[in-house]
Amino acid sequence: MKLSNYFLPTLKETPADAEMESHKLMLKAGLIRKVTAGVYDYLPLGFKVLKKIEEVVREEMNNAGAQEIKLPIIQPAKLWKESGRWDDFGPEMFKLADRKEREFALGPTHEEIITDLVRNELNSYKDLPLVLFQINDKYRDEIRPRHGVMRSREFLMKDAYSFHSTQESLDKTYERMYDAYARVFDRLGLDWVAVEAPTGLMGGSYSQEFMALADEGGEEIVVCDDCDYSSNIEIARYEVSSEYSENSPAELKEVETPGMETVEEVANHLGIPSQKVVKTFIYRTDDGLVAALVGGDDDIEEMKLINHLGTKKAEMVSSQADIKAITGANFGSIGPIGLKDDIPVYADLDLKSLTNFTVGANKNGFHLTNVNWDRDIEDVKFINLRKVREGDRCPECGSELDFHKCIEVGQIFQLGTKYSDSLDGEYQDRDGNLNPYIMGCYGIGISRLIPAVIQQKYDSKGINWTGAVSPFSAALIVLGSEGEESFRLGEALYKELKELDYEVLVDDREVSPGFKFNDADLIGAPIKIIIGPRGLESGVLEVESRSGDKEELNLENKDVKQIAEKLGERISALG
Ligand code: ATP
Ligand code: MG
Repeated sequence: MKLSNYFLPTLKETPADAEMESHKLMLKAGLIRKVTAGVYDYLPLGFKVLKKIEEVVREEMNNAGAQEIKLPIIQPAKLWKESGRWDDFGPEMFKLADRKEREFALGPTHEEIITDLVRNELNSYKDLPLVLFQINDKYRDEIRPRHGVMRSREFLMKDAYSFHSTQESLDKTYERMYDAYARVFDRLGLDWVAVEAPTGLMGGSYSQEFMALADEGGEEIVVCDDCDYSSNIEIARYEVSSEYSENSPAELKEVETPGMETVEEVANHLGIPSQKVVKTFIYRTDDGLVAALVGGDDDIEEMKLINHLGTKKAEMVSSQADIKAITGANFGSIGPIGLKDDIPVYADLDLKSLTNFTVGANKNGFHLTNVNWDRDIEDVKFINLRKVREGDRCPECGSELDFHKCIEVGQIFQLGTKYSDSLDGEYQDRDGNLNPYIMGCYGIGISRLIPAVIQQKYDSKGINWTGAVSPFSAALIVLGSEGEESFRLGEALYKELKELDYEVLVDDREVSPGFKFNDADLIGAPIKIIIGPRGLESGVLEVESRSGDKEELNLENKDVKQIAEKLGERISALG
């Protein structure tokens, strides 16, 4: 590609509204432009990278035995109502109506559409398993679109869906997909981890997310270095503690805690460790109110409560008036004892071994101390409820867990029969009985992968492409002016390198050498080949690697073909 007629509007200034380095660089290097919040144009360079990633994903999907299809973006509300997700998706779904006032959604995902296709076409066990995939735009009215195409409202996803007659068959495909994902992320040069993940709105029984490690990423995971346990922080398990267990229960006492609102105040006043002042929260769920208890030093992980209850929502009761009406006390004094009968109590697993602890008395300015399970609080369910924290140990092997920030680039799900049940997707088994398909689904955020790669690898000069993502294998920087020998050689080398299958970018623009070098670095050229009048006079080309190592290529007695071959060798070695 020749830069003189390539649409590459690079920016000198850092765009003011971008926070994340990958977002800044995508704007500066002319990959994308914003149309409106969460909606972007891809310019030639950005589109080229997008296509490269798409191709890697496509190859690996084909290798894994998935067949490519294309499903519609405009999807009838009817199917979403059948599955129950028309309401569940809520305001994140873009909804529209046609001229006859029939309702539609812009597809945020495609489980409904594909289950509808398959239920109409596949009726026999002989047709299973089947794995289909597409690479298509998705629409989600994200509450906070941000960081450019990292979290946009229109984005490109690869989504695959599999249909099975047995769990074993799903397991096999799931594993194959996992392996294909591993190859994709390796080929893109990403530093990644797969972790146990919440199933969220997709549903199902088991899921894993693929996370690109990045300190600025919005997701958090825990990883055990000594075994293969790793998890999204929202569902992470931990080795249960019994640090505060004493054997003999003491007498239950009501104590005055006037004006004390915080765990710290109560713990200091009573002279006990803060972890023994158990905190109570009241949540509103689809099935009514529940009380959730964690130790004084801990925080609740709402996702864990939601998962455990299988409820769609769990909102903490946060108004003083509501909490007073429910418990009889203000926030600082609420507890699990004496709550209305129909409020079930869930306590964090760590609390199970706790004895003689303190809770709010449901009476303003009072707490109860020496509280013990069974004797004072009956029917408590102990669940994994608190957030994991630094110092927590692996639930599998007991080693200390590591915490990392990251970017979610893919997720795979064992869906089970969620969609085949709700949408009546059935096949006939060997005995002629009808059974629901067992399903899996598998997503990769193709457009998010661009900022993910950039975020992981950028350097002080700009984008630093890795692996199969690099849009060009080298920048051929031609100095001098049109008509000079340097331009003639540049043109000839560009053609020869193309013959040899190297995609190089020739900078033949009439701008200063410094401008050309900066742009080549900014857009992430792995190496620069400099063809200048001065070098030609002394019979050399200069080759500079991304890390700044320079070497000269002697032109003496070589024809263009030979020079191109030599350069090709350097590109392959350095790129
Ligand atoms: P997130 O938690 O980041 O909102 P998600 O879990 O809702 O994502 P999935 O339904 O798992 O997303 O979609 C598959 C992949 O699509 C994600 O792993 C992510 O890489 C990508 N993706 C999801 N939402 C967006 C978005 N708004 N912009 C860009 N990529 C996205
Ligand atoms: Mg996800």
